Amino acid sequence: MFDFGGTLEADGVNWGPRFHAAYVEGGGALDYATFEPIYKESDRALGRLSGIERLGFRATVEAQADLLRDVLPAAERFDARRAAARFCADAVAVVNRNRPVLERLARRYRLGVVSNFTGNLRPCLEELELLGLFAVTSDSTVLGSRKPDERIFRDTLASLGVVPEGAWMVGDNFEADIRPAHGLGLRTCWLAPAQRAVPVGCVPSARIGRLPELERVLG
Ligand SMILES: [Mg+2]
Repeated sequence: MFDFGGTLEADGVNWGPRFHAAYVEGGGALDYATFEPIYKESDRALGRLSGIERLGFRATVEAQADLLRDVLPAAERFDARRAAARFCADAVAVVNRNRPVLERLARRYRLGVVSNFTGNLRPCLEELELLGLFAVTSDSTVLGSRKPDERIFRDTLASLGVVPEGAWMVGDNFEADIRPAHGLGLRTCWLAPAQRAVPVGCVPSARIGRLPELERVLG
């Protein structure tokens, strides 16, 4: 089971910091600490956007960039199109690197995605040419439970037809992906930049810095 954001389309960095880098590329000047609460406001607005359940990856990123521009103070406006293009180009490059790995894994295992998302996980995966690799896709908005709630993990395991002890959870968010999966008895693989410290109270079964390293972990 894989997380989506930060795991399949980036090397352990979630949307907030990546959106900030794209915003700076689009001419934005706020530092990350100032930017983050505004980004989170745009994130909540994205979840309420009419028709979000049909949006693919690029349209989702463009919609979020537009929402972000609209909630920023007028003096902090940036080029939302340019920022969205940068965000998408970086994500697509990582997905293209990861796809052959996921294709090989899909021949050996039943794969699932478990994501806190906005109801449009499947169109996003489809656009990124990943959807066909996953037997199960669990979108928190569709299922009505969010990580770290164990229900979304249990629902996904049941759909895959495996017991927790027979599954791995791979993700970049320690508290949402790793700790709850570990608690359920899954083996866990934390995808995180090398300098990020392991939180206390839970030791992941494995740690990687890039998704392709997962094949070495699984042997
Ligand atoms: Mg993530």
